[in-house]
This record gives sequence, C-alpha cells and structure tokens, in this order.
Amino acid sequence: GIARASISTSAIGGRTERKAGMDLFQISPSSVLKLQRGDITKWFVNGSTDAIVNAANERLQRGGGVDGAIHRAAGPLLQAACLEIPEVQPGVRCPTGEARITPAFQLPVSRIIHTVGPIYDAHRHPEVLLRKAYSLQLAKENNIEYIAFPSISCGVFGYPFDEASNVAISTIKEFSDNFKEVHFVLFEDEVYNAWLESARKLL
Ligand code: ADP
Repeated sequence: GIARASISTSAIGGRTERKAGMDLFQISPSSVLKLQRGDITKWFVNGSTDAIVNAANERLQRGGGVDGAIHRAAGPLLQAACLEIPEVQPGVRCPTGEARITPAFQLPVSRIIHTVGPIYDAHRHPEVLLRKAYSLQLAKENNIEYIAFPSISCGVFGYPFDEASNVAISTIKEFSDNFKEVHFVLFEDEVYNAWLESARKLL
C-alpha cells in the first residue's frame, strides 16, 4: 500500500463519533479511494461535481437492489429520464459494459451514471465487461470529480465478491487520475470485506 489511514471521526448530533468501517487509500498523487459500508442513495460531496453510479439493467427500467433504492430515493422523474434515453436495439438503452447519465432529481448528488454490469453466469468473459462497467469515460466527460460506486453485479447478477473486488479496485486504480475521490459505498459486510482485502493487496 502507498499510504493508508482509517478515517476515524464524523460529527453526528454535535458530538464526534468514532466511525468504523471506512478506509482511505492514496491511489495517485491527486486522488484517494475510500471504502465504506452504507447506502449509496445517501452519499454526496457537493451537489455539483459529484455522481453516484447505479448498477442498472440494459432496459434502464426500474428494478430491485441498488437500482430500486436509487429510483425510490430519486423520485419518479428518474424513470422518465431513463426512458427518454434512446434504445440502441429493441429493449436495450444501455448495453452491458456501457453507461448513460441522468440528473439525480431528489438525490443530493448532481448526477447518476447508470452502468450495466455483466450477469456472471451468462457472459463468457464477465471480467472484461465488469472492467468496462467501472471504466467511466462518461464521468470524465461530465467533469465529475467525486464519484461513488456500488458493488456492480454482486447482487442478482451473481458475481463472486472476491473476483468482483479485484476487478473493481484494479480498474479504478487505472482510471483514478480522472477523479479527486473515488468511493465505494458497500451495503453488505461480506462485500466490504472483499473490497478491503483487494485494496490492501492491490494498492
Ligand atoms: P446487480 O444486478 O448489478 O447484481 P444489485 O442491485 O442486485 O445489482 O446488487 C448490486 C450490489 O448493490 C449488491 O452487492 C447489493 O448489496 C448492493 N446494494 C443494494 N442496495 C444498496 C444501496 N442502497 N446502496 C449501496 N449498495 C446497495
């Protein structure tokens, strides 16, 4: 590792509380990676150069998991914005490995980047597609400086956590120069632990 520290404090209700489960890694001279447990719909930095990533489906149709949580929190205008994105083939607005961007509506961040990860058992080279899903050129083009990812494909798409975390961390390391801060907001302890292990190994 280059330099690693645990962020230890956050002000809650006027007092400072020790916050376990957040780790900080310097990934390039100008960017840091943060791992944390939590709900990505609550995440924001400044509402202007920040974005969260959604693990969407090819239709960009409201689904379950993190996608359902994001739609619930963003409000119904999000589904309308997704459906305005043109289909590239019948029923497909965003092919696997690609991304599309929308406003974030009622969420505190500025934008939502919808990316579609691979279904682990349905693709011959899922790691290539997962890599693509994490290499967000779109974020750079939209001047996003702070970005938060969930564990793409680790829910119903069935990607093993330890394999997914290696792909996620190594891809982010490569693209980190695009961002001031890259966060992973991970909903489950087991996923968080896999990410932490990969970060300690690869950074
Ligand atoms: P996929 O179809 O890409 O597998 P899922 O939404 O089923 O997408 O799962 C992706 C990951 O999102 C899972 O690891 C799940 O734990 C996580 N997740 C679910 N809800 C949230 C949330 N509110 N914030 C962050 N991560 C979440």
